[in-house]
Amino acid sequence: MRRVGPHSFTEIYYAGCNPSFVETSDGYVMIDTPQQPIDAVRWREMLEEKAPIRYLVNTEPHGDHISGNAYFPNVPVVGQVKLQECFERYLAQFGTMEEKRERLKQLDPDSVFLLGHPDYTDPHGPTVTFTDGMTLNVGNHTFQIIHHPGHTAPQTSVYVPEEGVVFTGDNVFHKCRSWLQECDPWEWLDALKKIEALDAEVIVPGHGEQCGKAYLKDQAQIVENWVGYIERFVDRGVGPEEILREKVAVTAQDPYPIGQRLFMHDERLTGMIVNNLHHRIRDKKEAGA
Ligand SMILES: [Zn+2]
Repeated sequence: MRRVGPHSFTEIYYAGCNPSFVETSDGYVMIDTPQQPIDAVRWREMLEEKAPIRYLVNTEPHGDHISGNAYFPNVPVVGQVKLQECFERYLAQFGTMEEKRERLKQLDPDSVFLLGHPDYTDPHGPTVTFTDGMTLNVGNHTFQIIHHPGHTAPQTSVYVPEEGVVFTGDNVFHKCRSWLQECDPWEWLDALKKIEALDAEVIVPGHGEQCGKAYLKDQAQIVENWVGYIERFVDRGVGPEEILREKVAVTAQDPYPIGQRLFMHDERLTGMIVNNLHHRIRDKKEAGA
């Protein structure tokens, strides 16, 4: 557990995202949930021993941020309106119950009995929604919840001025491989400028250690590198299959290794990035032409 502000904490070493919380004078506000069921129930017990959890805010619909929601059945979940719409579809992308069980048997046997457990059958998507943003006042803390589309369409940042902290989900990958598998890269660059404009000293990324605003330039550079790299293929009329037949220059665009137990997805991720950016860049050029 890493302290990232006077009352703000994040866990950067779990398999999954960086689940985080802020301790207010009236209980906790959580940002995303531990991915592994056993981590989620331990986390809940640790918090509730001290104070109630008032809200859970999801920053994005990827399974590593939302699949732990099921283990917080009594906590109201806050999410962007598009996240509410796609919640179940993204959970399904994380695999069927049977696939998840087989995966857990290999990777995390302690979690197996909690998967589909009768106490946790509701996946527990957002019930409190917003379009552009909303503010929650809990105890003496203010939570500015802001729609910052980029890494995903419903992408959300949680800015807590009293802490000088902003939780960005995967609009920031700090020194681990950036996942651009479904992003709108131009919206992402715009989101990074909006995060930069917040009065926050500490950025808590979706993956990797907390960082400062200086890293936002590096994150933008990685997105720009990928766009430039794929654009040169688009301009020469080279399609994604052809790009992927040759060796893709991944580390020239993004020097960082894939984080948190996800190394097995390395090649698949590169394929998804190439396909996503290729069709977005081509569509944009065709729309402009
Ligand atoms: Zn993500």
